[in-house]
Amino acid sequence: MSVEEALEYIKSHPEGALQSDLWKVLKIDSRKCSRIVAKLLKDNIVTRAVESVDGIRTYRLFCSEKSHSRRFDPLLAVDAFEPCAGCIEECIPEHCANLSEWIFSIVMGEDGEISIDKIHLEKSGKS
Ligand code: SF4
Repeated sequence: MSVEEALEYIKSHPEGALQSDLWKVLKIDSRKCSRIVAKLLKDNIVTRAVESVDGIRTYRLFCSEKSHSRRFDPLLAVDAFEPCAGCIEECIPEHCANLSEWIFSIVMGEDGEISIDKIHLEKSGKS
C-alpha cells in the first residue's frame, strides 16, 4: 500500500473519502492508514474534517490539489478551448467562424464527427 494509492482513492471521491473506509478498501490496518494520511496532510495534499459515522469518530478526507483540467472545464468543449479567451480579432460574433465551430462542438458533443456524418447521410437519404 502506497501513499499514491491512498491519494488516488481520495481523489476519486470529490465529496470526500472517509478515513474509516480508506484503510478497509486499501486492505491495510488503521494505524498504517493514519501514517499515510498524516504524510498527505503534512504535504498539504489533503485536508480533513471530523465526522461521526455510526457513533464512531473518523475523518472525511478531501484532495486539496486543483486539477487543471477541471479548472478549465467550463471553457472547454470536448477538447477545444473557448475561442474568445485572449482573442484579439475584430469581433463580430454573428460572423465568427471560430465561435461558431466551438458552439457546434458543444452541441454535437464528443461524437460530433459521427453525428455530423449521420446528419449528412440523413440529408442525402442514405441512412
Ligand atoms: S466571437 Fe470570435 S472574434 Fe469575437 S472574441 Fe470570440 S473568437 Fe474573437
